[in-house]
Amino acid sequence: MMDTRPDIKSLTLDQLKEEMVKMGEKPFRSGQIYEWLHGKWARDFDEMSNLSKSLREMLKERFRLVTLKEVKMQQSRADGTRKYLFALPDGNVVESVWMQYHYGNSVCISSQAGCRMGCRFCASTLDGLARNLAPSEMLDQIYAISRQTGQRVSHVVVMGTGEPLDNYENLLQFLSLLMSEKGMNMGQRNITVSTCGLVPQMYRLADEKLQITLALSLHGATDEKRKKLMPIAEVHSLQEVLAACDYYVKKTGRRITFEYSLIRDINDTQEDARQLCAIARNLNCHINLIPVNPVKERSFASPQRAGVDMFKEILEKNGVNVTVRRGLGRDIDGSCGQLRRRYVTGAVTEI
Ligand code: SAH
Repeated sequence: MMDTRPDIKSLTLDQLKEEMVKMGEKPFRSGQIYEWLHGKWARDFDEMSNLSKSLREMLKERFRLVTLKEVKMQQSRADGTRKYLFALPDGNVVESVWMQYHYGNSVCISSQAGCRMGCRFCASTLDGLARNLAPSEMLDQIYAISRQTGQRVSHVVVMGTGEPLDNYENLLQFLSLLMSEKGMNMGQRNITVSTCGLVPQMYRLADEKLQITLALSLHGATDEKRKKLMPIAEVHSLQEVLAACDYYVKKTGRRITFEYSLIRDINDTQEDARQLCAIARNLNCHINLIPVNPVKERSFASPQRAGVDMFKEILEKNGVNVTVRRGLGRDIDGSCGQLRRRYVTGAVTEI
């Protein structure tokens, strides 16, 4: 039977207050409970020691408390990056990554179990979309990692499995909980949301009056190239996507990030680089080059080191802000849904 009780970790403080009133409890209890859930990352109502036993019992009856179970953790010997595979309450699994940078610790979270966008080089989309993640399930990836590492998470990137703008309402609720003062109190500028280019939702996000960074997965500088790699390019033309980016920049004042996965003989030529320059020059943007992570089920390969450098140099010479993504965690199933994929297909079995 499906558990239809409200998911308490997905409620904002105001919503929790309403619930307390409905239960005939003092409204201030909501602040205490909220702090346990989002400030102390409690995994059980019994941890909430300043609530009476009877209130804790009532909460247990009335609400679901979503916590993710760590199924597997791999740590890179090369750079300390940790990759987690978490089980959701219904048995679906998602992956998250913890990375250390000079500016702090960053967690990359998944927004859906699977994905339906179908990008050809991406492992997360091979089995399609299982379901959207609830706000609590996005948050608990960060909470579980914070508990496990004992270190402060200063940055969050929504760049794991899934298309965050395809799970828009839950994403926004998640962001509001993540930014809340009694929760992680995460600065808006320390949050990045990555999209393959869902144009209507990009406009919506621009109008939310948030200061989060939007990253657009570009991967090709012409419609023809994008269509080869990303089915979404059949729905929204490059021109439409770039207009939405422009709107986002104007509306928020934030620089946009373009992600460009470099794939040998597909989008890594000098001409590709020059076409990319033409796009980048018109916008306040930063380009992140990602040498593609080869996925077993696909035949794409990354260019040689020299090819990546050549591509980067052309951009730099044209005054474009560009970095090459550090290949963090390459020795631990890289990134991009590969650990989850191995698990789902039975290649990772030990628990
Ligand atoms: N759906 C969102 C966010 C998830 S993917 C999006 O498309 O942006 C995060 C980034 O990793 C995207 O830029 C995606 O295109 C890229 N990516 C996926 N698989 C990859 C792979 N095998 N190698 C390199 N980058 C990959």
